[in-house]
Amino acid sequence: MVVGVHRKTKIKIDLKAIGKNVANIKKELPPEQNLFAVVKANAYGHGLEQVAYAAREAGANGFCVAVIDEGIALRRAGIAETILILGVNPPSEAVYLAENDLSIAVESMEFLEKSQAYLSQAKQTLKVHIALDTGMGRIGFRNPADLQKALDFLKEHQEQFDFEGIFTHFATADSADDTYFKQQLAKFNELMTVVKERPRYVHVANTAASLWHQTCGGNTIRYGVGMYGLNPSGNELATPEPLYPALSLVSEVSAVKKIKAGDKIGYGITYTAKNDEWIATIPIGYADGWLRRMQGFEVLVQGHRCEIVGRVCMDQMMIRVPHKIPLGTLVTLIGEDHGEVITVQDVADYAQTIHYEIICDLSLRIDRVYC
Ligand SMILES: *Cc1c(COP(=O)(O)O)cnc(C)c1O
Repeated sequence: MVVGVHRKTKIKIDLKAIGKNVANIKKELPPEQNLFAVVKANAYGHGLEQVAYAAREAGANGFCVAVIDEGIALRRAGIAETILILGVNPPSEAVYLAENDLSIAVESMEFLEKSQAYLSQAKQTLKVHIALDTGMGRIGFRNPADLQKALDFLKEHQEQFDFEGIFTHFATADSADDTYFKQQLAKFNELMTVVKERPRYVHVANTAASLWHQTCGGNTIRYGVGMYGLNPSGNELATPEPLYPALSLVSEVSAVKKIKAGDKIGYGITYTAKNDEWIATIPIGYADGWLRRMQGFEVLVQGHRCEIVGRVCMDQMMIRVPHKIPLGTLVTLIGEDHGEVITVQDVADYAQTIHYEIICDLSLRIDRVYC
């Protein structure tokens, strides 16, 4: 992957904001509660290692990732705490996982049986967290009989498996309507009656459940989007403590020109100047994860909101500015400039998606700088 370190389009990450967000949620929780920082997908686009260090310093005592390679990257970065892989892994990777002390979500007997053979041959022990599907419909054991079989199997094969955790995941914890949340919680409690010896980690809460359903149980939370300073509900529910957004996205004016009324801009000539206008070019495009459908949205220049005109290209886009401005003028796409703010939520609303997707889409080509 080539990172554009020599260009002025940058993602700025405020690691102090990450620290504050972790410290704030820890204050809300009982002191014995563990916090696993969710750093999958390059820490939601913020940078895996840097976020992991900041979260650990602020009190995170474990980490969640989605795929094996993210877990390996954390181990190589010197993270010695628990690292849980939330996604499903092939049994053929069981030995590699165990060798690297990675904990994994387990959701089927088939996985347990197949990986048991590999582990036993390699004389390795794998840490497992049993996934319970209480209504998300994604991964996990769904009924007490299947769960019982898995628990019996773990007990029978203690040399190959360390039963470290059990968890579930909520589909609607970020909604004001808690009907389905309560159904999932009841299902979880029902399944848990099968579990006679509780493992070290019992975890049910993502950010939304940690903020709005603090008594939902478990001794560990999986804290993701809130750590990055974003409200999981969008604008639907208020958070008990303020969240501090960690990410901003900036660029600069790379070209500027005056065009005449009737002149056209961009592929497909979708924009025609109504008057004589000043147009600036900004070196960011959809290859950077700045979506093509952001045409018509705004960016901040010297505290002014300036419209994105014409199609967003792969690596560049054009904006209409009120007057001639110097090359190199700062352009803020996400963040604050002279008291004006564009949030990730604003971008997501315009793009008709959620803020999670906007930050994950920001390409690795954009250089991340930390402060
Ligand atoms: C991604 C993920 C989380 C984190 O969710 P947030 O809403 O970002 O807090 C927690 N648990 C599981 C299982 C996940 O997949």
